[in-house]
Amino acid sequence: MSVADAHLHLDFFANPAAFAQEAQACGLQVFANSVTPQGFLATTAVTQGMPHVRIGLGLHPWWVNEASIDDFFSLLPQTRWVGEVGIDLSPKRAHHEQQVNTFAQIAERCARDGDKVLSLHSVRAADVVLDILEKTGCTRSCSCVFHWFSGSTEALWRAIRAGCWFSVNEMQAGTRRAKEQLKLIPADRLLLETDLPPEGDASTHAADVLASLERVRNQLERIRRKSMAEQLALNWEHLTL
Ligand SMILES: [Zn+2]
Repeated sequence: MSVADAHLHLDFFANPAAFAQEAQACGLQVFANSVTPQGFLATTAVTQGMPHVRIGLGLHPWWVNEASIDDFFSLLPQTRWVGEVGIDLSPKRAHHEQQVNTFAQIAERCARDGDKVLSLHSVRAADVVLDILEKTGCTRSCSCVFHWFSGSTEALWRAIRAGCWFSVNEMQAGTRRAKEQLKLIPADRLLLETDLPPEGDASTHAADVLASLERVRNQLERIRRKSMAEQLALNWEHLTL
């Protein structure tokens, strides 16, 4: 049975190739999100012939002012995996308007191409992200995965009805609101993630990722009063078909 991390940052590791090899050795599958097209290129180059690593093409909202959207669009046909993309409207983050415009263009292109898997950042922006995903048709033609969902329960229902997926990490699962929300998500739309490593932290190993995934699975099992390992493995298979 496969164990998968649906959102980590290979481009934050000091040695991405070494981490990818460790992951292979312990049977860990990953959806590695990049934050810029450059990060996608760099991590793709060092993971050739490693099918357990899916590299997402990212244009993270925190880097929207530095990353090139032209590079993003020229690389998009190469990959089914897109992330990290989205919107962060918290006051400490800048370029709100540019973030919304950029994400709208990305969603529109993904919707048109179809069959993409998107890992979505949506801080204080779940409704804005959903507006764009629905208006562009992205929720219908692609698999849209909310990473670390932190929106209202109304927005959660809206995302569930739109067919979205949710990747859950241990920081998220520890909050009171999430404990309520994590009961509501259909079992076949749940994935696990770590969002590791912290940027600039070279000391994270595949064993740390596995341990974090196990903790969040245990949290989920306590919240939902049900064993989840088999279902989660099936969900990952479904997403990666
Ligand atoms: Zn992330």
